[in-house]
Amino acid sequence: MRKPKVLFAASEVYPFAKTGGLADVGYSLPKALANAFDVAVVMPLYHTVDRQKYAIEGPTDSFDVMLGSERRTVSLYESRYEERTYLFVYEPQLCDRDYLYGPPGEGYDDNAERFGLFSYAVTELARAMQSDIVHLNDWQTALAALIIADDETLKARTVYTIHNLAYQGDFPKKALSALGIDKRHFTLEGIEYYDRVNLMKAGIGYADAVTTVSPTYAEEILTHRFGCGLEGYLEKHRTRLSGIANGIDTEHFSPQTDKSLLRPYKTPRGKLSNKKRYLEDAGLEDAGLPLFIFIGRFTWQKGIDMLLEALPQMAALPCNIAILGEGEPRYHPRFEAVAEAHPNLHLFFGYDEALAHRMYAAADFLLMPSLFEPCGLNQMIAAHYGAVPIVHAVGGLADTVAPITRMQETPTACGITFDEATPEALLAAFETALELYRDAKAWSRAATHNMHADVSWGQSASAYAALYRKISGSAVK
Ligand code: ADP
Repeated sequence: MRKPKVLFAASEVYPFAKTGGLADVGYSLPKALANAFDVAVVMPLYHTVDRQKYAIEGPTDSFDVMLGSERRTVSLYESRYEERTYLFVYEPQLCDRDYLYGPPGEGYDDNAERFGLFSYAVTELARAMQSDIVHLNDWQTALAALIIADDETLKARTVYTIHNLAYQGDFPKKALSALGIDKRHFTLEGIEYYDRVNLMKAGIGYADAVTTVSPTYAEEILTHRFGCGLEGYLEKHRTRLSGIANGIDTEHFSPQTDKSLLRPYKTPRGKLSNKKRYLEDAGLEDAGLPLFIFIGRFTWQKGIDMLLEALPQMAALPCNIAILGEGEPRYHPRFEAVAEAHPNLHLFFGYDEALAHRMYAAADFLLMPSLFEPCGLNQMIAAHYGAVPIVHAVGGLADTVAPITRMQETPTACGITFDEATPEALLAAFETALELYRDAKAWSRAATHNMHADVSWGQSASAYAALYRKISGSAVK
């Protein structure tokens, strides 16, 4: 029997282009589904993508799409990477930029056209490839759900996954004509949002199934607090909405085989040589002190303001803290001011995949005080590398990190969880972590538990497979 054909479309896919967790999912979920489905992944061929390194060949084909009244030619490129098919679409306006979406903290003015064009290209590919399922991810591909729903000649079913509801692809009304969207969709039921075009709504309103990246976040986004203004719209489409937690690719993120590490390891004890080396490289002292790390985008979502408020008091305690991140530059001087007064705080502003891996291997604890978190991957990576996460218990963090007091009864990774998004609560959790660390056996038990916890795609890939089958069998259109 032929495997159903899935076209998985995302605006970033590891290792070709990555700004966050979406890229990791773009790599690892199709890989986890490859046994049961014939999966091709498609993304834009940004000029930052290393064509040589990944043997990206082409153009293998080209086709035209209409962007409003304009005809645009899209070139197709391909790569077989780790035995999977990756397709890349190239068009100058979409691809020839220094950044994927815009400089740090900003979006390019023409992102509606850029990603509208990508969505049209995805649709045409689905037609040419006769895809059974088109799996769309975030607002950058959401318009494809509307285009496919609107086109009787296209038989593909669509899944739309919300990776982060805070980024909705919200544009001035003129995007409607620029993207050639029929006016009848510019309604409250369609993609209108306060007289603007909202591309996220195209995914939610028109896809055959809508998912988000954890069960708790799927509930949270129906509320005013987490719904980012779309809670009412989501409520209307609730019967098609479900939450499937992300996993991590445990081959790529494996402390046993990770080539970025000084010394691969199987048990928490093996972390020590990596920790010593990391501390040396970072100019930090005393491997006997617990090492806390933070890795992530500098943006309010990640609880950076809360972290900055608590940081001077945390750094005054017996510990080392290392921070790796990039994002809104306004945060840099505030971090630097704390680091000046506290030499046990190390900062690295930028994006460095190998350094991130070395930090996970070195860390005793991961700080993740996100105000909201659709799923989050860092906590799972950290746990798999034998660190104990300290998390604000929201969204995917609540689903993937159980309180350490429940360690005996749960297969989920464990950590120190707190419920209030305040610097005081974070500080209290930090102090609990110090206490745990003082009891070497207790810390080691938690770290060992985490290294064995199931953070893989296993169950979640099965849930996506079941969803694909369900919608292919139905006549939703
Ligand atoms: P996001 O909201 O950014 O998608 P996730 O927790 O889902 O957050 O995924 C973040 C991913 O990006 C993880 O693989 C993490 O290790 C990585 N990451 C984030 N910031 C950096 C950085 N500055 N350098 C290297 N890797 C980073």
